[in-house]
Amino acid sequence: MKSLAVLHASQLVTLTGPSRPRVGAEMLELGIIRDGGMLIRDGRIELVGPSDEIEKNAGDAEVINACRKVVLPGFVDAHTHLVFAGNRLDDFERRVRGDTYEQIAKAGGGIWSTVEKTRATSEADLLVQARKHADWFLRCGTTTVESKSGYGLTIDDELKILRVMRRLSHETPLEIVPTFLGAHAVPRKMHADQYVDMVVNEMLPRVTSDSLAEFCDVFCEHGYFDIEQSGRILSAAKTLGLKLRIHADQLSNSGAAMLAAELKTTTADHLEKTDEQGIAALKSGGVQPVLLPGSVYALGSMSYPRAREMIEAGLAIVIATDFNPGSSPTPSMPMILSLACTQMKMSPAEAISASTINPAANFSIFDCDDYRELAYWFGFPQTHSVYVKGSRAH
Ligand SMILES: [Zn+2]
Repeated sequence: MKSLAVLHASQLVTLTGPSRPRVGAEMLELGIIRDGGMLIRDGRIELVGPSDEIEKNAGDAEVINACRKVVLPGFVDAHTHLVFAGNRLDDFERRVRGDTYEQIAKAGGGIWSTVEKTRATSEADLLVQARKHADWFLRCGTTTVESKSGYGLTIDDELKILRVMRRLSHETPLEIVPTFLGAHAVPRKMHADQYVDMVVNEMLPRVTSDSLAEFCDVFCEHGYFDIEQSGRILSAAKTLGLKLRIHADQLSNSGAAMLAAELKTTTADHLEKTDEQGIAALKSGGVQPVLLPGSVYALGSMSYPRAREMIEAGLAIVIATDFNPGSSPTPSMPMILSLACTQMKMSPAEAISASTINPAANFSIFDCDDYRELAYWFGFPQTHSVYVKGSRAH
């Protein structure tokens, strides 16, 4: 593997610091080196510092001139539904016209239309579409995504989706952390409890015996899975060795943040309706909030989560796209940076801290001088190039 020397970045954003998620004022510390450089050997960062120092040690490394560019660790998108068939263009048009969720569902739209299309699509064809999505993420500077199943809702279709993720992570440079979200919705003509039994007794054991997921997630919401049902699924998953996530308080304050704290889930996601009590519970349970402003925006809502209160409470917040065909059709972390700043009043530094982790040799180079430009200019990619484990990925 050839060595790389990245030189003369106007800002090399290192995010060096403690090897734990940043909280509070730490989120403002990006560890920026001006005229910065780094040396990468064998897919690992060997040296980071001022360009002249890197140049002295570069030997025969291939030089990447990052003059007048920002270099950033690759974005980590911690909440996506990457694998699905088709799109929801008709729903989009209906929503724009003012149709309600119920009207859209009645017209044959909503999550169920994606489930039907995904079930009817072969593993090979799903992979073709998923590759396209993976390419979109890379093009926006994202090098790692968490990706959920959940558009199958039968054992065979959920396993099919998880296998597509596994193949995608082998066949593309995008790094994928797989999550089993069998409890994304209750299948038609089934009672929720009956389906929960199926998730716990049939799906989870297969998912874990085939090592197809690292995390288990549940859509905890009225009309989907209540607190008790969500708790049953997540507890069973924990017993089988999976780590936990939860879709919490998106449409109503249902107490899901409390459940997350009780079960010490790794993350609680959405939290649009979470109040002070929920925020305090997340803090005491050591749960990381994953905030998804893209879905609030795309649904035409103004109900953004209370990011500032969460930061002030010392929570290690994360921002992510929630990429999915219904409520958040965007793979763009730069768009999420813009929304985090303009709608949730996070500073550009806080938004960057919440969208990357400490450096691996995964990094992106952007055609701008100042990291704040990533959140400032919005709606078009400023990506120059993207590297995963030291190799060019886009
Ligand atoms: Zn989601």
